[in-house]
Amino acid sequence: MKSLKYNLIIATLFTILLLLPDFIGNILWQNYYIITSKNTLKEIAITFFISLLISFSNARILFFTLFFLFGVIELIYFDFFHSYIQPYQTDLLFSELEDILDSLKSIATFIGILMAFVIAIIALLSYFLKKLPLKSYKLSTILLLTLILIFPFFVNKKKVIYIPNSTHLSYLNTFFATNLWILNKFSKKIKKTYKPYIVKKESNGKKIVIVIMGESLNYKRMHLFGWDINNTPNLDKLAKNDKNFIFKKAISSGINTPVSVVSFFNLKREPQNINLLLSQKTNLLKLAKENNYSTYWLSLQEEGTSISTLLNYADYKKTRKDFIKKYDEVLINELKKIPNKKTFIILHLRANHSPYEEYTPKKFYKWDFHSKDYATYKRKSYYNGVLYNDYVISKVIEYVKSHFKNYSIYFTSDHGEMLGFKDEGGRFGHSQLTFGDTFVPFLYYSDTKRELNKTFYNHYQIGKMIAKDLGYEIINPNEDGTYFINGVSIDGSSGFIQYKINNSKLIKENK
Ligand SMILES: [Zn+2]
Repeated sequence: MKSLKYNLIIATLFTILLLLPDFIGNILWQNYYIITSKNTLKEIAITFFISLLISFSNARILFFTLFFLFGVIELIYFDFFHSYIQPYQTDLLFSELEDILDSLKSIATFIGILMAFVIAIIALLSYFLKKLPLKSYKLSTILLLTLILIFPFFVNKKKVIYIPNSTHLSYLNTFFATNLWILNKFSKKIKKTYKPYIVKKESNGKKIVIVIMGESLNYKRMHLFGWDINNTPNLDKLAKNDKNFIFKKAISSGINTPVSVVSFFNLKREPQNINLLLSQKTNLLKLAKENNYSTYWLSLQEEGTSISTLLNYADYKKTRKDFIKKYDEVLINELKKIPNKKTFIILHLRANHSPYEEYTPKKFYKWDFHSKDYATYKRKSYYNGVLYNDYVISKVIEYVKSHFKNYSIYFTSDHGEMLGFKDEGGRFGHSQLTFGDTFVPFLYYSDTKRELNKTFYNHYQIGKMIAKDLGYEIINPNEDGTYFINGVSIDGSSGFIQYKINNSKLIKENK
């Protein structure tokens, strides 16, 4: 009977520890966890029941560590994004691990402290639990495993209530997200078929076409587009003095780098249209090559496996590893080496990727971003990055303008970035399926006149303009006036937004 008492004590201790991330979260952020009459008691009771099962299991440290880590992961995620981990975002772990690790650098101290804390707790528990006369039953382990395995069936019945939010305990949020993600992977997908795009060669194209692909640049946070921070002095000057410079608001085709960049350079409108990618029919680099352009892909990014398919059609390619100096301005020197002949050039920038300060040279640190306040730090560091983008883009325009004839320069960003503002629902970063991280600038410069009258453009439309400059008309028989923002999976399996642009307003068409 004595040892049963110890099991109860340990179960109570486990319960307290599993609730700890929510206490920590509430100290750090207002309303990280919200106590509700409906859920709180229920989830604490469930936590105690699970803890009791763990205490009787012979693999108690393993099970406890698993659930405890779930809670800590939610804390880390929240520290970066100020929102809760969503099921579809689990896909990112597979498609963008390197990028995620890179982003996590900006909250490295927080992660370091948490991990040291986790290790300390697990080590202490392992040491003391061995000394206690605890009862163990194999049945308890089997029961726990069974619960974990059959849980998705409960989730499947009422998916909506399991969507991670502030009224669930941290460790349960991560557990639910994992379950929903697995369910989504196994659910039957409706295969959609699309009419094939038609590619028509119309002309020899312009002599020089340059696309600068930006990173995480949100037009809303640029002075050029009216933001009250003086972070685009060079572009402002161009807008004032040079009629050939056009700047427009735009919407990205995706919410993360690989999906957006691949969709953009393939003119892929429909998220689920995988056949288009398989055919490579509308790959802008391929089209350019077929129209006798020399093709350049010069990038300060590492370019993962999906983006690399675009590079198949580049005559000259350089990625991050090929540069000694790692700031975007090295691309201007590369541009200067390109001979004055028929060329299609892609410059893929790294700034403004987070941590923003890492990709911005020190001489562009106009705003002191050292602050204990997360929003202040993020925003000021971001503004410095915008200032650097302003410099790099205007330098490219300046060089091309004085050295080439019959050219056009396009700039847009892969996706936007949220900085915790009110119109972003206080969220940070990108990779979240919402309009907030899709607002990108569309800048255009050319030595021939062009009228761009719409308030909003999008990646798909910009892609078609580029195709035109390369000598092609692309006809997409599937067009019906709607457009898409794809989620984090290129095949649309992580969800997408369907929208219309109506009198300068964006209207969401799906839920
Ligand atoms: Zn990106």
